[in-house]
Amino acid sequence: MDSNAFLLSFGMKPGDFERTEGPIESDEGFVYEGWEARKDAGCPRCASRSCIIKDRYVAEIRLRSDMLKTEILVCHRIKYVCKGCGKTFTIPLKGAMVGRSLTYLERAAMLAELDQGDTFERVAMAHGISKTEAVNVFDEAHPEVRRKPLPKILLIDEFKFSTPYSKYCCHLADFEASESVDVIRSRQKAYLDEYFGRIGESERGRVKVLVTDMYDEYAHLARKWLPNAKVVADRFHVAQTMIDAAYGYHNFERFRKRFLLMRWNKRR
Ligand SMILES: [Zn+2]
Repeated sequence: MDSNAFLLSFGMKPGDFERTEGPIESDEGFVYEGWEARKDAGCPRCASRSCIIKDRYVAEIRLRSDMLKTEILVCHRIKYVCKGCGKTFTIPLKGAMVGRSLTYLERAAMLAELDQGDTFERVAMAHGISKTEAVNVFDEAHPEVRRKPLPKILLIDEFKFSTPYSKYCCHLADFEASESVDVIRSRQKAYLDEYFGRIGESERGRVKVLVTDMYDEYAHLARKWLPNAKVVADRFHVAQTMIDAAYGYHNFERFRKRFLLMRWNKRR
């Protein structure tokens, strides 16, 4: 191939290669082949300049992929060895992620899709990778997700999700913005105390309403940590509790009648 325009269009550098060929059309899409150019390499461990080529190896770099086709660069990479200290190393290629067979361009596309709410499964399928790989790309890009500031109207509700700490996790949400504030790993009192205890007093004071189900610990939480908050039981949970209570009462009455009748029958 005379022009290395395809490398530029995938965010890579033609100067990193001494020769490229392709594309060859295959069942999955297009395959390019490239031979990495030898460079004047310095040893990353001892900075010695006397490094030589140890061997070449083949690595596949996915340039781009979607549901219809994949474009792959079969890359003949160079492994160098330092004559001073014996360390072997490679020189990163511009645009290709170190340790991953992905270009930064494709990773950016995947992250944008995940940010828009696509599932890991859909993104993995669209880019022809495994779900685990998609999760890893996301985790690497977001090593830590910070919580949002406590809002004026804070919703708290638990959902079943077992962790070593608890069977239930808690979801904190901002009612007015319809946004998640945080997901915390337990609804138990000790954990809630630790979590809210780490938040500054002025921030906690901003919460005016805490909307909860009828779980006791949340009322405790408001009393102890949210001095300006009124506790409001949300309608869904009030209705559910009343229905549960009604059924409970109904069952209890049935049980009571049967119990009394049995005793009555025995006596006769
Ligand atoms: Zn060295």
